[in-house]
Amino acid sequence: AEQKPKKPDWLRVRLPIGESYRHVRNLVDKNKLHTICESGNCPNMGECWGEGTATFMILGNTCTRSCGFCAVATGRPDPIDWDEPQRVAEAIHLMKVKHAVLTSVDRDEIKDGGSIIWYNTIRAVKALNPDTTLETLIPDFKGQMENVQRIVEAHPEVVSHNIETVERLTRQVRIQAKYWRSMDVLRYLKENGMRVKSGIMLGLGETKEEVVQTLHDLKNNGVDVVTIGQYLQPTKKHLAVQRFVHPDEFAEYREIGYTIGLDYVESGPLVRSSYHSEKHVIPGFGK
Ligand code: SF4
Ligand code: SF4
Repeated sequence: AEQKPKKPDWLRVRLPIGESYRHVRNLVDKNKLHTICESGNCPNMGECWGEGTATFMILGNTCTRSCGFCAVATGRPDPIDWDEPQRVAEAIHLMKVKHAVLTSVDRDEIKDGGSIIWYNTIRAVKALNPDTTLETLIPDFKGQMENVQRIVEAHPEVVSHNIETVERLTRQVRIQAKYWRSMDVLRYLKENGMRVKSGIMLGLGETKEEVVQTLHDLKNNGVDVVTIGQYLQPTKKHLAVQRFVHPDEFAEYREIGYTIGLDYVESGPLVRSSYHSEKHVIPGFGK
């Protein structure tokens, strides 16, 4: 039988307990919200929720896509919930968060791809929380720039779209997505004045050279901030972990990222797209 790599010590994390963790938990439940923290079994919940940070997932919790790494359920999504933007805004208000991360499932079955709810949510959050900064982790909207444009118009502080893996593995990791289409979305965001962020997961079978090439491609397509983290298999049905990347190798990619001119590189085993997101708003913070 194939030998599975053993989970190394550097991936052990704190359990989610404590007062503020329970506070976030209650607000999320009471407002019928979904978080990527929970659906992704994120190892940082203890830390993030303990600090009052959570990543809200809008447009329901069923996705039209079936990425090989992702624990969100695939299927026919719920009907659009037009009250959701207001509930998200209120939860953020009650949590008194200074910085919030929003993401969504992909809604390929509707013409606007969910971009109208996205726009309404960003505006509702801003209206009720004028001092809260926002990162919006968006889908590729099938490369339809009129939908991406709604995000530009809503004007969050940071817009992220994750490339997730290297070009060669994209078909396997994000079956309905395309590497260069995602690059086009990133470049469009940059050309329209956004601060742009993307992320890669390691341990899916990519080579070092491919990781470095991806960093170059991201830089060349206008990305300012890159997050690099270890892929962890959410269930046995998902893509297997090929390798646990050593913290030193993560540090190497951080150095390379800065050398090629990225503005901020967050790189380490436990890094997730939304980890330390509040720092990604500020130009030059990472250096
Ligand atoms: Fe949630 Fe992101 Fe923190 Fe994980 S890193 S707990 S997904 S906010
Ligand atoms: Fe998960 Fe996003 Fe892929 Fe849907 S599009 S399966 S939410 S990673």
